[in-house]
Amino acid sequence: MARVAGKVALVTGGALGLGKATAEMLAREGAKVVVTDVNVEEGQKVAQGIASNGGEAIFIEHDASSEAQWKAAIQSTLDTYGRLDILVNNAGIGFLANVEETSLEAWRKTQSVNLDGVFLGTKYGIEAMRKSGGGSIINLSSIEGLVGDPNLAAYNASKGGVRIFTKSAALHCARQRYGIRINSVHPGYIWTPMVEAVTNGTDTEKYQSLVDLHPVGHLGEPDDIAYGILYLASDESKFVTGTELVIDGGYTAQ
Ligand code: NAP
Repeated sequence: MARVAGKVALVTGGALGLGKATAEMLAREGAKVVVTDVNVEEGQKVAQGIASNGGEAIFIEHDASSEAQWKAAIQSTLDTYGRLDILVNNAGIGFLANVEETSLEAWRKTQSVNLDGVFLGTKYGIEAMRKSGGGSIINLSSIEGLVGDPNLAAYNASKGGVRIFTKSAALHCARQRYGIRINSVHPGYIWTPMVEAVTNGTDTEKYQSLVDLHPVGHLGEPDDIAYGILYLASDESKFVTGTELVIDGGYTAQ
């Protein structure tokens, strides 16, 4: 039995990396998937790939930091599939700099995608899910939402914000008896285009220094995170809300 059969899911930043793996896994497990991203070419490929493997998916061009585009993306989802059951607020950007080197512009850009985007998705996701009678929202935070890194000042702030905002929204939905659960996911370093950009490939000192941060001795794969998201998306986690699922190879255990 597919684990999210009959559900409708929207995954932001679904063109690459963790979003792509999540969209494909949810589709394999029976969901109809709305893939959204600013990267149109790669996003369309993901939706087409799902369809050619027998699943159901559409692509919508969508900047997660834009309120108008959120309204349009949710409306298109409802127009196409009639409901929304699962929302994965995955779109995010990295910004590598310490507090002294971070400009206000870079700070605001990071918050606008990583934090405003999650806020907007959660707000409009709740509105749509109330009409569908409930649902599950999964917000991508990070180990960087739990522990500090001197060279990730703006990113740390955005991901810490996602962590505690998720709890506030989860409590609100629980107390209102909406049947909407909201949780955050906290990956360690996972081999995606975002991390590839930081290390310039696997054969570098920077790559090895990231590996060394993980007690298991290697970085994660996108499916390591997608499996956690699948659990939170499915009814198997029906008693789970406001929690933080850490998937990090032991990074934050030490
Ligand atoms: P990625 O490889 O960079 O992929 C992110 C996707 O999101 C890209 O397709 C990107 O498009 C898109 N995107 C960027 N800005 C967007 C916006 N404003 N609206 C919609 N889409 C946008 O990133 P990833 O590694 O898969 O990370 C996914 C999420 O997990 C992020 O929130 C990240 O912070 C979080 N995370 C990742 C790791 C990790 O190690 N990979 C660890 C912890 C948390 P473009 O390529 O065109 O920019």
